[in-house]
Amino acid sequence: MTDQPPGPPQGPNDRPPDGKESFWKGRCSFCGKDPTRVRKIFSGFHALICDECVRTCYGLLTESETADVPDEEPDRDSLPNPEDIKSYLDTYIVGQDQAKRIVSVAVYNHYKRVFYPEWQKQVELEKSNIVLIGPTGTGKTLLARTLAHKLAVPFCIADATVLTEAGYVGEDVENILVRLLQAADFNPRRAERGIVYIDEIDKIARKEANPSITRDVSGEGVQQGLLKILEGTVANVPPKGGRKHPEQAFVKIDTSNILFICGGAFHGLEQIINRRIGKRNMGFHSNPVDLGKMSTADVIAHVEPEDLLNYGLIPELIGRLPVAAALDELNEPALLRILTEPRNALVSQYKTLFEMEGVELDIRHDALEEVVARTVSRKTGARGLRSIMERALLDVMFEIPSLENLKKVTITGDVIRQTAKPQLAFAESKKKSA
Ligand code: ADP
Repeated sequence: MTDQPPGPPQGPNDRPPDGKESFWKGRCSFCGKDPTRVRKIFSGFHALICDECVRTCYGLLTESETADVPDEEPDRDSLPNPEDIKSYLDTYIVGQDQAKRIVSVAVYNHYKRVFYPEWQKQVELEKSNIVLIGPTGTGKTLLARTLAHKLAVPFCIADATVLTEAGYVGEDVENILVRLLQAADFNPRRAERGIVYIDEIDKIARKEANPSITRDVSGEGVQQGLLKILEGTVANVPPKGGRKHPEQAFVKIDTSNILFICGGAFHGLEQIINRRIGKRNMGFHSNPVDLGKMSTADVIAHVEPEDLLNYGLIPELIGRLPVAAALDELNEPALLRILTEPRNALVSQYKTLFEMEGVELDIRHDALEEVVARTVSRKTGARGLRSIMERALLDVMFEIPSLENLKKVTITGDVIRQTAKPQLAFAESKKKSA
């Protein structure tokens, strides 16, 4: 323990006037903050410590303890093959068959590369980072998360829109790795085999694809920052993140084996692909593509690096995202299946919550159809399903714990339309409305 602040001053008022004992009165002996700037200060015989410094010390202690914890991830013998991965994805994700096949192979190849480093001596195997292209709420994040679950590797999500170049206000690209480190229980070796999902990658595209006309420095700078960690670098990661804690020790994380999955809606990409294919069809090409019969996802499945370049991604970043998969817009039958079929389907979740109170939840088919119809009109993909269900069930979920002898709750289409209340059935066949 030291009675000098170990890091740089925390603010203009924190500079200790040399030799003035009074400066330390009531302040944390480690960071020098006064009680108005922290939540709690604990006092010992000769020193004080604030809650923030206690947390930092705890983080450093647990970090060194977990560093020796044996890895739980699969090793080369237990690496699931693409079919296993795909059938696991099938239990959670409805539809998106082609995307599931593509990522199953990519992830399998990725971990082969990680678990069999000796083969790298013959040929350098490149990383299979993935870009998922599809409208919002179609399962991109779910796909990435489920993959990480299957492989039992740490997983984190980052939003590309809040990232900024180092030195600007916002989140440094390195902060993505802070989250991964946290997901890995502060074990850097585990983090180095994790999966990172970067959402809204399309939002950091250059506004103007041709860099000679306009340089959209912010988007391009962030892409450059991402490029560094995507292609593999040894990053110095502050375990607590941010620039607020200069006292923390940095952890080195090698990103060369981290799998990055980037996702985005890429509005307008379809037109770019259409234009390219249209031009090609007009030339002397032996195998013209019939665009008229294709769905958006079918068109997107024809994406080529030059289309992403025209969209505004920088060529180096495109080069680091060699696997592209398109996700379909979810239609009504798919949304209906999402409500009931996946292992943790929404309907099963609500039924379980009710069962925990000893109550049966009966959601009629017309109610599910109404939930789907409303979700479609919101244009937020499957994302809207939950909020509509939550709203319909809110009142009854509020009341259930204090209702005695309630046995069954029935939800009809009218409940979803908000023209009727849920029907409640009680043990002594007592019936009333919520
Ligand atoms: P995206 O990342 O494409 O915007 P998400 O993966 O975050 O969408 O989807 C939001 C939620 O919608 C998921 O948590 C999941 O509950 C549901 N969902 C979306 N697509 C699917 C799908 N294809 N199968 C099952 N559930 C889905």
